[in-house]
Amino acid sequence: MHCSRLFVSLTLVENPLDNDIQFVPGVGEMRARALKHELGIHTLGDMLRHYPFRYIDRTRIYPIAEITDAAGLAYVQFRARITSISYAGEGRRRRFYAYAQDATGQAELVWFQGIKWIEKKIEVGREYLVFGRATFYRSLLQLAHPELETIEQALSRKAESGMQGIYPSTEKIGNLLGAKGMYQIICNTWRLVAGRIPDPLPDAIRTQYGLIPLCDALYNIHFPQSAEALRQAQYRLKFDELFGIQLNIQRHRTARLSKNDGFLFKRVGDAFNAFYNERLPFPLTGAQKRVIREIRQDTVSGFQMNRLLQGDVGSGKTMVALMSMLLAVDNGYQACMMAPTEILARQHYATFRKLLEGTGITVGILTGASKSRERRDTLAGIASGETQLLIGTHALIEDRVQFANLGFVVIDEQHRFGVEQRARLWTKNAQPPHILVMTATPIPRTLAMTLYGDLDVSVIDELPPGRRPIRTVHYTDAARLRLFGFLRQEIRKGRQIYIVYPLIKESEAMDYKDLTDGYEAISRDFPLPEYVTAICHGRMKPADKEESMRQFKSGEAQILVATSVIEVGVDVPNATVMVIESAERFGLSQLHQLRGRVGRGGEQSYCILMSGEKLSREARARLDAMCETNDGFRLAELDLKLRGAGDINGTLQSGMGFDLKIANPTLDVQILTVTREAAIGILSVDPALDRPEHRGLEELRKRYAGNDAIDFSRIS
Ligand code: ADP
Ligand code: MG
Repeated sequence: MHCSRLFVSLTLVENPLDNDIQFVPGVGEMRARALKHELGIHTLGDMLRHYPFRYIDRTRIYPIAEITDAAGLAYVQFRARITSISYAGEGRRRRFYAYAQDATGQAELVWFQGIKWIEKKIEVGREYLVFGRATFYRSLLQLAHPELETIEQALSRKAESGMQGIYPSTEKIGNLLGAKGMYQIICNTWRLVAGRIPDPLPDAIRTQYGLIPLCDALYNIHFPQSAEALRQAQYRLKFDELFGIQLNIQRHRTARLSKNDGFLFKRVGDAFNAFYNERLPFPLTGAQKRVIREIRQDTVSGFQMNRLLQGDVGSGKTMVALMSMLLAVDNGYQACMMAPTEILARQHYATFRKLLEGTGITVGILTGASKSRERRDTLAGIASGETQLLIGTHALIEDRVQFANLGFVVIDEQHRFGVEQRARLWTKNAQPPHILVMTATPIPRTLAMTLYGDLDVSVIDELPPGRRPIRTVHYTDAARLRLFGFLRQEIRKGRQIYIVYPLIKESEAMDYKDLTDGYEAISRDFPLPEYVTAICHGRMKPADKEESMRQFKSGEAQILVATSVIEVGVDVPNATVMVIESAERFGLSQLHQLRGRVGRGGEQSYCILMSGEKLSREARARLDAMCETNDGFRLAELDLKLRGAGDINGTLQSGMGFDLKIANPTLDVQILTVTREAAIGILSVDPALDRPEHRGLEELRKRYAGNDAIDFSRIS
């Protein structure tokens, strides 16, 4: 290993990695500020944890003719003579061109910045080693701001490794540091700390899990000495990240289970029994019964419940929620349920009211759209304890919502809520309420473990009886007339239809135009006066939305044209057709959610995916998968595969506040499992991590303490 000079003067802090980045040669105050601001790099440790996202082989020199668009090479290196230079543009638009040639072909090099410097440096007639990102303009190879080295320089260069890392960067940083800048800073940083990097992991753990020292891992992640060394480095660094998270999760879990301060729901009383015996509109499925039993067991255990309920769309999660909430009522506690949309909250409210009519159980609703009078009354009812069940949207987490004695919280369609929103619900009590989180988006068990700590997971794996599988087809726009014919036929049979349009933030205005155009077209193309089309989207006033939904639910309107506001939870059993416009723009789980709006009664239901002719490979794979299966779990797995690591990791990170640079919980399942085991093992002998040999571990834990993510796993 290449461990070199020490800059002892730097060591103001105990761990050299904690030194400020600005003192690294080549950084300085201004660049340090940019690194902090743009990439969150404050210390040498941050810099060394800024890992390459790919590597290029600096030992490889291509003939220019081999570098073609079709070859798909991102970064290339070739050896060529500069034949001429030229200028173009004026002022800020000024560009500098140099033309390079080898025995096989020509390339154009261009600079937009630093022209003064490069025009002085470059010599026509001289041979250079040129390195940079290849682009093509009319099949001519072009490199913007390439690295140039004379052949003499290149031969004398002593690189740390033949593989050079390519680093995540931003435009600003790129401009400030130039093509080689980041790599140079990493090299300089390394020289400052090499040989002095403390390892947070005790030897015992390193040996047990076959991990290389941190120092070697950091060296090889930046300067891989071989493919195998790189693999080991990646493994070690991923291990550290996931281990840090697991140490937090397992510590919180131990704390939760040692507190023993869960509300006790000892009685199964009148509310539950009367409802079960007299009010239940249908027999519960076996799966529903099982989950209610699991919840019942949790709530008499003395521990605070922390349970995730997964069940495909239409599997009957709402009934499980209601009956669990009745258990709370029987024991003198309030219960609340938070839904992600106004429409869904109102629907749950209506369902609960109807089911509980005449039982004397009081149900309140609180949403952003609640009128001030109504709101005041509701708030008073919650505070006094008079309101036993409360349904609502995010409005529930506002500070002024104070419960008399909240004992049970249900969060419906949890993936729609930010972590912070969820976390705030249970800070409303000194003693934490039991939490039931419900989702139709299945998460693989191991992932659930990372996301939510050791949540207990219940699954409803059985649909209510009599459901027929939904038939899904994919039509292109050419089949629109056929579609209309089919819709007419269904309406004549007395069925109802959803037509859904995509809505994404970036093109909101255009999306709304599509929607209203579609609405008009439907109204025009269905010249049958007895058919009513309702419309519902986010820009409408809550009262108008509600009126549209009422029309559709009551059957007054046969067609509902809507944006994906209806994606979650809406329940109209008579609706049998779901038409999804521009289906290629929806994600797989969203498509599945939308499809779940139909097939809720005994009639054959259909989902029709509309798209243009031209589709990306990925979009086609999504639509094909939808046509092939109704199984939400299978679709979720496929979704993970299709969306790939980056996307999901991004969501995880932004959603959970984990600062993962290299590990990917969805892909690194094996590491996730061993780190969990390792964390449990260590904490069982040293729960507070205060033994001297565990000081590094405690630091590691703190680095990944995250924020709300961990609060969520703690849920108290
Ligand atoms: P989700 O799990 O998607 O939230 P819902 O709770 O909205 O599903 O239930 C879907 C539909 O199935 C509702 O109309 C509900 O009344 C009905 N349902 C729920 N449980 C049963 C059951 N055991 N038997 C028959 N229908 C049921
Ligand atoms: Mg639901």
